[in-house]
Amino acid sequence: MRDPLKHSGPVTASNNGFNIIECIECGHKHIFPIPTDEELEHIYKHEYYTKNKPDYIEKDIEDRDWWEMTYNRRFEFFENNLTTHGRRLLDIGSGPGLFLEVGNKRNWESKGIEPNQKAAEHSIKRGLDICNMMFDSRSAELLGKFDAINMSLVLEHVANPSKVIELVYNQLNDGGLFCVAVPNDFSPFQLVLQNHLGFQPWWVAPPHHINYFNFKSMEKLLQRNGFSVIHQEATFPIEMFLLMGDNYIGNDSVGRSCHKKRINFEMALVESGQGHLLSEMYQSFASSGVGREVLMIAKKETKN
Ligand SMILES: [Zn+2]
Repeated sequence: MRDPLKHSGPVTASNNGFNIIECIECGHKHIFPIPTDEELEHIYKHEYYTKNKPDYIEKDIEDRDWWEMTYNRRFEFFENNLTTHGRRLLDIGSGPGLFLEVGNKRNWESKGIEPNQKAAEHSIKRGLDICNMMFDSRSAELLGKFDAINMSLVLEHVANPSKVIELVYNQLNDGGLFCVAVPNDFSPFQLVLQNHLGFQPWWVAPPHHINYFNFKSMEKLLQRNGFSVIHQEATFPIEMFLLMGDNYIGNDSVGRSCHKKRINFEMALVESGQGHLLSEMYQSFASSGVGREVLMIAKKETKN
């Protein structure tokens, strides 16, 4: 079924036979026309981790210390800001399950929902509580209520992000927290690379990336769906390497080396007890609109 929203707006980029429009109706950029739910379900059930991310699970484990540090920071934020009494967590698009493992170690009751069979099986083998389905109105009914919901790098892939956020809202207890991460696209650094240094807009990746957010459009989407944003930060602006001359586009070994440097930088700060510096820096990057990803923590407000 096609999305009933009346998408319209100027075309801002084209790639792979798709146009990206600055949609007036949605308030963010997305490809148009939007693929059907059936087309998307096929991509994520069978293809994603095998065709597009063949070594995703192995790489994830390789960087385990860094992922754990990153996720521990996120749980600390939840724990310091939650006003609900329980500790039930849902990770939407839980992939190989590391977020859930970190949660369980911190005494959260963690559940994941993951459409990809290979990733779900990997998590179940590790003893995690996983629902191997797409997150939609059917599966949402089976999941129950949560005090915190995490959703990393999911919203850019879905046909109707507003609908997904509405479902998240309904799964949360009153006052519950929602942490969402999406790529920060058409960012100031990317635009310098495109307009000044002749880079093609490599971040435009249809049909896998349908939606293209930034800090402003993400905040608006959350507010329209009953959330107030209580914290925002950027993730490391990896495009700085491109600006400094290390071209990792289409070059996995350069990409890997840049990623390692970023890991070294963050681990050094956190392990030396200067994690607050990282947090302050990434919050100020967010206010400048730079950073590879938008990371927002929002609170469920009671609707009047
Ligand atoms: Zn739209």
